[in-house]
Amino acid sequence: MSFRFEVLHRDAGTGARIGRMHTGHGTVETPVFMPVGTQATVKAVGQDDLQALGAEILLGNTYHLMLRPGEALVQRLGGLHRFMAWPRAIITDSGGYQVYSLAQSRRITEEGATFQSHLDGSQHVLTPERAVAIQEALGADILMALDECPPSRSERAYLEESLARTTRWLRRCARAWKGGSGALFGIAQGGLDLGLRRRHLEEVCAIDLPGYALGGYSVGERPEEMQASVAEVAPLMPEDRPRYLMGVGTPVDLMQAVAAGIDMFDCVLPTRCARNGLLFTHQGRLNLRNAVHARDESPPDARCDCYTCRTHSRAYLRHLFAADELLALRLATLHNLHHYLSLMRGAREAIAEDRFAAFVADVREREGGRAPPLGDEPGADPPPARGRAGGQPGRTGTRGKRRE
Ligand SMILES: [Zn+2]
Repeated sequence: MSFRFEVLHRDAGTGARIGRMHTGHGTVETPVFMPVGTQATVKAVGQDDLQALGAEILLGNTYHLMLRPGEALVQRLGGLHRFMAWPRAIITDSGGYQVYSLAQSRRITEEGATFQSHLDGSQHVLTPERAVAIQEALGADILMALDECPPSRSERAYLEESLARTTRWLRRCARAWKGGSGALFGIAQGGLDLGLRRRHLEEVCAIDLPGYALGGYSVGERPEEMQASVAEVAPLMPEDRPRYLMGVGTPVDLMQAVAAGIDMFDCVLPTRCARNGLLFTHQGRLNLRNAVHARDESPPDARCDCYTCRTHSRAYLRHLFAADELLALRLATLHNLHHYLSLMRGAREAIAEDRFAAFVADVREREGGRAPPLGDEPGADPPPARGRAGGQPGRTGTRGKRRE
C-alpha cells in the first residue's frame, strides 16, 4: 500500500487542520473536495478540465462500474486510471449506498447485500469481500468498506442491528484487503443518535485502518442537525488519520465540518445543480434559468476567475439553458467545480494562517445559510439531494433520477 497521511498544521481557533495524503497517484492537499465521477466521468466535463481546475482526486462509484462496464473489463484495460485517462488519485465507494438507493429487490443478510441491477434487473450479490475485490480490480487509491446506510430516522432496534453488522462487515473487509494496493477506509454510521454514533465510531476505529469516514449524513435531516452531530463526532476520530465526511454538502456544510476537523468531502451538489442551471457564487446562489438574466451582460460571478466567468455573460448562459444546449451543462459545471475547489483552497490558506473561524463566518455571510431551495425551477429535476450520489435512501421518487 502506497498511502501516507500527514497533518501539517492545526488552526489555532477551531478544530480545522491542513494535511497531505500521499497516494500512488500523487499528493492530495486536505481539506479536499472530491468531484464525483460516477461512471468513470464527471458529468459534462473532461479530464483535461478537471486537471486545469486543480482537482487532485475523483470519486468513482463501485455500484455503477461493477454493473457497467464491469470491473473485469476495466481491469483488463489497465485499471480505472488508464481506462478513463485520469493520472491523479481515485477513491471508490463500496457500492453499498447505491444498493440501498438505486437497486431493486435488495435483501440484506449477514453474508452481504443481494440486489437486482437498476439497468437490466440482473441479480447480484455484494459481500464485504467482493466490495474489496471490485475496488482493487478497479485500481482505486482509496477503497471504502462495505457498510449499510440505514435511513437516519430508522427504529433504534434496527439501527443497532445494522451497526453491529456493519462492524462485522468491516472486519471481513479488512481481512480481505490485508494492506493491498489501495488504502481501505472504514465507515462509522449511527444516524443522529449521538450515543450510537460514538459507540459505532469507537468500534470502527478499533480496527487499524489508513482512514475513517462518517456515513449516513445528508439523508434527509436538517443541515443544523447534521452540522451539530458532525461537530460532536469528528473530534473523536483518530488525529493522525484522514477523516472523510461522505456525501456532504453545501459550501456552509463543508466549512462547518472542516472547523470540526474533517479532511475529505464528496458531493454531487455542485455538478448536479450546475446541470439544473444553479450556480454557487460569492453572492449566493444564482438560477441561470431566470428571465431576469436575459439581457444581463455581467459574468455569473464577478469575483470568480473560472473560464466561464472570464468568458461568458449571464445572458448567454441563460440562453444556452433556455435552448437546452449542451454547452450550458459544461460551462455551469466548470464554474461550480471551480467554486468548490477554490473554496477549499481558501480554507487551506485560512487554516495555515490561523484565521479559519473568520473565514467560515465570511462564507456563511456570502453563501447564505438560508438560500432559496436548490433546483426549484419548474420543469427542472426535483430538488437535488443534499446527500451522496444516487439519491436518498428510504425516500421514494429518487429512483431513476439520480444515478450519479
Ligand atoms: Zn466562475
